[in-house]
Amino acid sequence: MVSKSNRTSKYGVGRKRGQCGGLYIHIPFCVKKCIYCDFYSIVNLSRIPRFLDALEREIGMRRSLQLTFDSVYIGGGTPSVLDAGDIGRLVETAWKQFDILPDSEITLEANPGTLCAEDLKAYRQCGINRLNIGVQSFHRENLGFLGRIHSGRQALEAIQWARQAGFDNIGLDLIYGLPGQTRANWLADLQRAVDLAPEHLSCYMLTRESGTPLDREIKAGHLKLPADSTMRALFDITIDFLKRHGFFHYEISNFARLTEDGHSPWISRHNKKYWTLAPYLGLGPSAHSFIDFQRWWNHRSVQKYVQQIETGRLPTAQKEKLTKEQLIMEAIYLGFRTAAGINTTTFEDRFGMNFFSAFKEPVAGFEKDGFLAITETRCALTRKGMAYLDSISAAFTSQDFNG
Ligand code: SF4
Repeated sequence: MVSKSNRTSKYGVGRKRGQCGGLYIHIPFCVKKCIYCDFYSIVNLSRIPRFLDALEREIGMRRSLQLTFDSVYIGGGTPSVLDAGDIGRLVETAWKQFDILPDSEITLEANPGTLCAEDLKAYRQCGINRLNIGVQSFHRENLGFLGRIHSGRQALEAIQWARQAGFDNIGLDLIYGLPGQTRANWLADLQRAVDLAPEHLSCYMLTRESGTPLDREIKAGHLKLPADSTMRALFDITIDFLKRHGFFHYEISNFARLTEDGHSPWISRHNKKYWTLAPYLGLGPSAHSFIDFQRWWNHRSVQKYVQQIETGRLPTAQKEKLTKEQLIMEAIYLGFRTAAGINTTTFEDRFGMNFFSAFKEPVAGFEKDGFLAITETRCALTRKGMAYLDSISAAFTSQDFNG
């Protein structure tokens, strides 16, 4: 794995000698908006052809970036609203224009309501080797509440067809913490999911994102999310249940199935890029990129995105250069999301400061109260700590660094 540039960046983030990046492609279309979702997407599918032309041109514009990729993630939105032929052409264009390693992880996000057996075969044939299916729940009333376009039965069929098409790396997304959801209701979803033996499970807590229909309903007093204590109990149940069923809890919301000899080959390579401050390039409206301490993001509008590209301009909306303090904050927040926690040796190499000296007070306080697990070279949240990720990270990043 050799990066074209082989440059080592100042703080050892963004790009290092031999470090590969992730390529993210955002498909901003959905059949219908779900009530909780704040990802950028529109439901006007007639704009797809012009968008695809623009996307192809953006690939051409960004191809000079000196980066080798070992993961490609086609997300959204609902990438599976595109014709299988369009997905195939997109993958082919990316392979031609970028330096993508032959054994790369190539993931497609898919909604069970937009899948059929034929398309799944075509996806597999064009080089997609990982499928992430947005199941969310198998219960009709939960799917209805969330505004999903599919049934539990369609999700089961999609997984069956995906296996028949040759997918041996399937991830399922589930959501818990719906208003009034009982422990039994959530456990039934988990049970159905593990019965299907997916290689990966993402279990997300339903959260109130500003500006979503869910947010408006809560504001209007029509809905109430479960209390924090209930959410924490459901989080605990999830970890216990999935551990018992052979899954490795490697990130706050993510679980990878373990092999019989205890290995975890199905940890999402792409998502790991975000948690370890590895470089990534995002294409498509609203997509973010992070390379050489710079972060930039594209316009969050299909119309603006297409216009910019059609007039020969990059669709970048804004760019920022991250300061050392910002990078430290990101390294702490993202490191705490993972079971491995913060590698304090890497931290010191990167930022030139000893983690335990720089954060002496919060480390001592949170460790004493059972929120942190410390070894000589690691500082990780315990399970109890994970339930307070935001406030613990804030306590670390709000203090003056002594390093
Ligand atoms: S299908 Fe996915 S991206 Fe589209 S609105 Fe629903 S959650 Fe959001």
